Amino acid sequence: MVYFDSAASTAPSQNVLDAFFKLNQISFANPSSVHALGREGARLLEDQRKQLLRLFGVSNTHQAIFLSGASEANNLVLKGIAFSYQNRGKKILISSAEHPSVTEPAKELASRFGFTLMELPVNENGVVDPKTLEEAMDKDVILVSIIGVNNETGSINDLRALGEIVHRFPKAYFHSDLTQAIGKIDVPFSSLDLFSFSGHKIHGIKGSGALLYRSSIRFVPLVHGGGQENGMRSGTVSVPLSGSLVCAVEDALGKRKENEAMVRPLYDRLCEGLKDLDVTVNSPLDGSPYVLNFSLNHHKASVIVEALSQKGIYVSSVSACSSKLDKASSVLLAMGLPADLAGNAVRVSLSESNSLEEVDFFLDTLATLLREVHKR
Ligand code: PMP
Repeated sequence: MVYFDSAASTAPSQNVLDAFFKLNQISFANPSSVHALGREGARLLEDQRKQLLRLFGVSNTHQAIFLSGASEANNLVLKGIAFSYQNRGKKILISSAEHPSVTEPAKELASRFGFTLMELPVNENGVVDPKTLEEAMDKDVILVSIIGVNNETGSINDLRALGEIVHRFPKAYFHSDLTQAIGKIDVPFSSLDLFSFSGHKIHGIKGSGALLYRSSIRFVPLVHGGGQENGMRSGTVSVPLSGSLVCAVEDALGKRKENEAMVRPLYDRLCEGLKDLDVTVNSPLDGSPYVLNFSLNHHKASVIVEALSQKGIYVSSVSACSSKLDKASSVLLAMGLPADLAGNAVRVSLSESNSLEEVDFFLDTLATLLREVHKR
């Protein structure tokens, strides 16, 4: 098997599985229970939270909530901030290359709740030019949400420069979806007011994720109930799951450079090999080495992705979340690609456990399929 779909999900690491297994044995009680075992769970949970904040270097400025993943975190940011701070202003800015878990709640706020949504255009590299943000900002903006690393193309936004612009406006918060950025690029965590991510993209367990936010921020929660997570997200907290997430983050951040040194040569070989094939590379030259997006010039992407799958090579057409919708990628359209290429893209996403042999096998197999399979 050649697994080139790590931007969709990764295998949990042994460290993560060990932590999860052990915590399930020692901390199965409800951490809200008042007896000794419950109190011990609550203590472990607070230690995990402190460790998570420490790992990101934001112990003195931010808080953390454990959630089910980036979709929940992004929804909480968009809806929670909008409803909490609507008396300050009603404008929300996002980029035109966000994940649907940002775009869809933002559209919902605009269509049902009277917020003004502005989608900032991205340039041909898939990123927001800071000047574009500068021109769009005004005193009615309460939230700006711009993705760190794009999940379809690997495009990297300049979060430091964008954050500086947002912070000239004291009523606006700056959020970034860091799902594809954590452990992959150097992120200025402390300059972000809020950031979200999922555990399973960094060898954690599916159903784990977190939102970190500046301590002064208050949200209207999405889930009301017993008041767990400081009232921000009710429901029994899983101490094993949150512990496994902290373990995944520790490994991802700690091994960032080491992992990049393993992935970069694979990415370079892929880029080089694709030059000889009938494809158009869509990812920018300076993007994340973990994600490479290309369009098939004359073949149907879904047919080639299926043919690759039959040979044991797993890649994505568009992103896993929207690949079942038979439509062009809105991210590639936003970058200015024509509809036929934007609707015919393949994403290869790598991890440090891939090898050069796998890349060569993929390139050879793809070359053969492009020769054998009928053109569209
Ligand atoms: N944001 C980005 C950038 C993603 O890549 C994904 C997963 N495709 C998500 C958010 C949503 O993550 P999850 O499905 O784990 O909630």
